[in-house]
Amino acid sequence: MPTSERYPHLKVTDPEVYGLIQRQTALEGSTLKMIASENYASFSVLEATGSSLTNKYCEGYPAARYYEGNEVMDEIENLAIARLKALFTAEHANVQPCSGSPANQAVYRAIMTPGDKVMGIPVSEGGHLTHGWKVNFSGRDYVQIPFGPSQETGLLDYDQIREIARRERPRMIWCGTTAYPRTIEYDKFAEIAQEVEAYLVADIAHISGLVAAGVHPNPVPYCDIVSSTTHKMMRGPRSGFILSRENDRYQEKYYPESKFNLAKRIDRAVFPGLQGGPHMNVIAAMAVAFGEAATPAFKEYAQQVVKNARHLGECLKNGGIRLACGGTDTHMLLLDFRNETFTGKEVAEALGRAGIIANFNMVPGDTRKPFITSGVRMGTPGLTSMGMKESDMEKVGEWILRVVHALPDSAATEKAVRGEIAEFCKGFKIPGLDD
Ligand SMILES: *Cc1c(COP(=O)(O)O)cnc(C)c1O
Repeated sequence: MPTSERYPHLKVTDPEVYGLIQRQTALEGSTLKMIASENYASFSVLEATGSSLTNKYCEGYPAARYYEGNEVMDEIENLAIARLKALFTAEHANVQPCSGSPANQAVYRAIMTPGDKVMGIPVSEGGHLTHGWKVNFSGRDYVQIPFGPSQETGLLDYDQIREIARRERPRMIWCGTTAYPRTIEYDKFAEIAQEVEAYLVADIAHISGLVAAGVHPNPVPYCDIVSSTTHKMMRGPRSGFILSRENDRYQEKYYPESKFNLAKRIDRAVFPGLQGGPHMNVIAAMAVAFGEAATPAFKEYAQQVVKNARHLGECLKNGGIRLACGGTDTHMLLLDFRNETFTGKEVAEALGRAGIIANFNMVPGDTRKPFITSGVRMGTPGLTSMGMKESDMEKVGEWILRVVHALPDSAATEKAVRGEIAEFCKGFKIPGLDD
C-alpha cells in the first residue's frame, strides 16, 4: 500500500494530524536515521500497537485483574512475558512499564528508600537521567554517587569504580549508559556489588537488541535487576520492561519484615505503586517484537549493526575524525571534536541539514558545556534495518566527512549531500514505512 493510501480513516476525519504524520514519514524516508537510540519498528509491531486492544482496561496482572473480561488479555501478557524470559533467560519479567524511565522508577521503589545512595553515571558522562541526575526524581529523592568513564581513555575504570563503591557503600549500582560504545563487563560490576553488598542493576535500554541476539554479554546472570526500553535497538513499540531474580539476596539485610520477594516487590512497584492500567496494545506489540528478536534473521541483523558501526568508525578515522573510547563494540560511535575549532553542536546541526540525523553529545574529557559539547553520537541500528551493509557505510562515511571538512562554510556541501542522500534512500525499503 503506498504511503498516501495508509490511514484511510484518519485522512478523512482529521486531515491535520494525518498531514503531520505524512510529513514526518516523508522526512524519515529521505534522511539517514542515525540517532543511536532510534530504529524502525516493523509493520507487524505497528499493527499491534494500533490495534483495538487499546480499548481494554486490565489493571492488575494475569489471573489477578481488577476488571472482568480479561481472559484473552491474560494470554497476551503471559505470551509477552514468556517470550521475554526466554530471550534473556530471566527468572521474572514485568512488561507493564510504559517506557524506560518508568521502569527505572519502579526499580527504585522495589529496592530503595528515599535518601539512599545510588551509584550512577552522570548524564554529562553518558548516564541516564534516571541514574541519579539532579533534576530527575532519582536525584531529588536519592543521593547520587557519581562515577564515569576515564577522562583520558574514555573507558570504564573498574578499579576506580570499586574504590568509590568501597568508600561510599551505595545501596544500588547502575551499570548501563546512553553513550558508551564499548562492552560493559557485568562480571566485574558484579564482584564490586557483591563486595559492598549493593544491588546491581543493569540498564540495557540501548543495547537490549544486541544482548537478545548474543552480540553483547547478557547481564541477567550477574545482576539483581535488568531494565530496558523496547523501542531502541529492539525495534519494538515505545515501552519498557524489568527482569529480575525471584528472590532478593539481601532480603535479610534490607527487607526482613517483608513477605514479598524481589519479583513481587517489582510487580507491586509498577502496579499499584506507580501505574494504573497496562497498555495492552503495546504489550501485544512487545510480544511481536520479542518474537521477531528470537529469529535467526534478528541475530544476523544485530551482528550487521555492529559490523556497520565498526566499518563506519574505520572510514571516519581514516578521514581524520577521532573516535572517543578508541572505537566501538556496539551499535554506537562517539565522534570526538575536542581538538577542533567547531563544536559537537555545530557538527550535529550541519549533518542534520545534510540529511544525517544524529545528536551532539559530551565526550570523555569534554571541556565544552553540555548544550554545546565536543562530540557527536551516532548509531547504525536504523540504517541496518534499512538493509545497509559495509559498502553503504563507506558512502555514509564519505558524506559525513564531506560535511565536517567543509565546516564552517558548509552550506553548499550540506545542500548537495542532502540531495544525494534523498536519492540514495530511494534504493532501500524502510521497515514500517515502505511495503
Ligand atoms: C533511553 C534510555 C532510558 C529511558 O527510556 P525512555 O523510554 O526514554 O524513558 C533509560 N536508560 C537508558 C540507559 C536509556 O538509554
